[in-house]
Amino acid sequence: MPRRANPMAVKANATYDVFEAARALSVTPATIRNWIKDGLEAMTASKPYLILGSAIREYLRAKYAAARRPLKDDELFCPSCGKGRKPLNMQVRQSQITAKTDLLKGICGHCASTATRMISHKQRQAFAATFQISKEAVSKA
Ligand SMILES: [Zn+2]
Repeated sequence: MPRRANPMAVKANATYDVFEAARALSVTPATIRNWIKDGLEAMTASKPYLILGSAIREYLRAKYAAARRPLKDDELFCPSCGKGRKPLNMQVRQSQITAKTDLLKGICGHCASTATRMISHKQRQAFAATFQISKEAVSKA
């Protein structure tokens, strides 16, 4: 597995272009462009593309968290159980986290703690077929 970039290598409140982000994270510019294609939130309306440090951190954390604990299609991650669990009654609440990412939140069917899962908007359809999804008002400031 390739070395992981450290999310803390970028400043949350700073803005980076592709080359600056690549330099800060010790990856290639091509890697940054791949991340943008994969869902890293970037301001792509004009060039150079600009990326918020906070978006990079969030993207990398979600990416690595998903890789560390692969979940089945019908599971959320329960931090109390430390593993994927089916949500109670397959019910989840969906809230938008970034322009391309949603958070699914449900009750762990095993221990009744809050279980969550980050999904990209591209995955919404697939998860809507699996879970009973209710929408939560956007709470991001
Ligand atoms: Zn649990």
